[in-house]
Amino acid sequence: MKSLVIKVGVVFLVLFGIGIGFATSAKDKGRPYYEEKGYVLWEIKTDEKVIALTFDDGPHPTYTPQVLDLLKKYEAKATFFVIGERAEKYPEVVSRIGEENHEIANHTYTHPLSISPAKLKEELKKTNDIIHDITGTYPIFYRPVGGQYNDKIINTAINEGYKVIMWSWHQDTEDWKTPGVKKIVKKVLSGVQPGNIVLFHDSGGDRSQTIRALEEILPELQQQGYKFVTVSELIEIYTMPASP
Ligand SMILES: [Zn+2]
Repeated sequence: MKSLVIKVGVVFLVLFGIGIGFATSAKDKGRPYYEEKGYVLWEIKTDEKVIALTFDDGPHPTYTPQVLDLLKKYEAKATFFVIGERAEKYPEVVSRIGEENHEIANHTYTHPLSISPAKLKEELKKTNDIIHDITGTYPIFYRPVGGQYNDKIINTAINEGYKVIMWSWHQDTEDWKTPGVKKIVKKVLSGVQPGNIVLFHDSGGDRSQTIRALEEILPELQQQGYKFVTVSELIEIYTMPASP
């Protein structure tokens, strides 16, 4: 009897705890609001076979050039969400990303897991200035670290003139966990749809699995008729009026 009381107590605590969690997150406006306003993008709906590959946490002196070589081979364009302090350390890699007409976006300066609005504002500016110094172009997109966002984060980014870019939830390769090449490939190919945004990482550890997965993903999607576009190009397709 005593153990039953404890079990019921545990269940109650779990349910109550979840309830509190929902109540807290319910304060934030959530995906439908931000998607409709156009402040945050997860993916687009289109019949056109386009896909946006995105790479976070770089630049990396070894892996980013390998990604760039593969993108070149398959005439693919991608978007790189770079960390400011890494861009500062490897400007030649950032320079090459820009020269090869990929898009460069802002992923904060120090990649902190949580951040205050004031600090975010500072890190966004610092990173954008570094990227501008190297490439002559100011990024217009920001991706929150770990995809963690709330109203404060989004409002800060919007007020600073950024659009917030997430990714298709079913296209999170989780390559940073080094799950094996097969799993990364399967994740992308099994659920691929036109207008998806795919999340990879070109830094933050050993990314050789990501490279090998790309060697399979790129030719397969190309054969399926997909065009690899930057996030800016994806947004242009989305806002283009339908042809009569
Ligand atoms: Zn990141």
